[in-house]
Amino acid sequence: MGSSPTPWSDRLRASALILLVAGLSLGALVTFSDLTLSRAAIVFACITAASLVPWQLRQTYAARDDARSHVSPDTAIVGAVVAGMPDPAVLLDRAGRVLHFNGAAAQLAPALRRNEFAQFALRSPEIITALREAIATAGIRRTTYLDHVPGERWMELVVTPVAVPTSFGGTDYLILMTFHDQTPLRRVEEMRADFVANASHELRTPLAALSGFIDTLQGPARDDPKARERFLGIMHAQATRMARLIDDLLSLSRVELSAHVRPDALADIVPIIRQVADGLEPLAAERQVQIELELPEKPETIAGDREELMRLFENLIENALKYGASGGKVVVSLKHDAAADGTPEVRVQVRDFGPGIAPEHLPRLTERFYRVDVGDSRSQGGTGLGLSLVKHILIRHRGRLLIESVPKQGATFTACLPQAQKNAAA
Ligand code: ADP
Repeated sequence: MGSSPTPWSDRLRASALILLVAGLSLGALVTFSDLTLSRAAIVFACITAASLVPWQLRQTYAARDDARSHVSPDTAIVGAVVAGMPDPAVLLDRAGRVLHFNGAAAQLAPALRRNEFAQFALRSPEIITALREAIATAGIRRTTYLDHVPGERWMELVVTPVAVPTSFGGTDYLILMTFHDQTPLRRVEEMRADFVANASHELRTPLAALSGFIDTLQGPARDDPKARERFLGIMHAQATRMARLIDDLLSLSRVELSAHVRPDALADIVPIIRQVADGLEPLAAERQVQIELELPEKPETIAGDREELMRLFENLIENALKYGASGGKVVVSLKHDAAADGTPEVRVQVRDFGPGIAPEHLPRLTERFYRVDVGDSRSQGGTGLGLSLVKHILIRHRGRLLIESVPKQGATFTACLPQAQKNAAA
């Protein structure tokens, strides 16, 4: 890094030349003037000593340079520590030159090279500013920026000046840059914001209708018993929708909160399905749909939460009655099968013969508030949370949901639940 030292032969030649000239001059003075030999010897000794001073100084400077170069930790240990850091990390000297970087940093900035200035490889203006400020103030700097290669990622950069003692008892600084991928956190944050916006919107719509009808009832419809009756009916429906939405939101957050606690109680799902189907008979009659149950006579026990299983089957059968009513029939059947890893499963299939669902909607049906047709869902009293709740109940039960549909031929929703262990069921 520094200038290369003058070779020893050059220095020797320079000193020898001085001493030769001094020796010849003194010899001439002794010979041709009255300078005594002893005095000439003393003067020669002084000149010799003087010619050695630059040598000494040079050596002192060389030692100091050596000591300085030890401040930049070009050591295997520091390199190994940087290499071992799980996140991208780059270590610089206080001028901003790269001393070490790890594999993750090389992936993030393939142009990084040792002994080159970091800003050549890390061109984002946020990085350069943070780096410059950290070097100037010897204080920690943080910044967030959007990285575009290989994909879009939100990265947080922390620039930490690290104090390093020098061999003269002073302090020098190295600059440690660490990068942290904030994309998953950002996504969760965006999902949370979307969720709050969606929930508020869903609540605000019926609320606006309610306040509108209250105004009308207090004003123009005050003395109109017929209009009052009709408006009160609509207000009741809107209030029921709000109550249902709040109910679904609370159920969803309860199930999510207990997602990691697997239910340990045993539940026979056959009577649960029968009870749910019985409860939905009035809706089936209203929609002129026949519910057919193909269930075994014997108990079918799984490790499960009775209330949650009721919600699960209620949502699936109710959806089939609401959206598949045109098929005139809903079949609920139970069979046994095995998951891909061989785990024996109980599969409850809810099949309707309605319009079905176009394939592009299938992967998104279990997202919160996702609906194929928002107007249709609202007119059916839907909240857009039913299938999301179904999915989370199944996750808690270590199960899964399969959705199949051929447009115009109906839809089949299958809840797969792991069978209870033999000894647990006993
Ligand atoms: P919602 O409260 O709107 O019913 P869900 O999460 O239960 O919400 O369902 C999401 C959407 O999936 C519904 O709005 C509907 O468009 C569609 N869907 C659900 N079940 C069926 C079905 N059996 N047939 C056709 N579409 C369905």
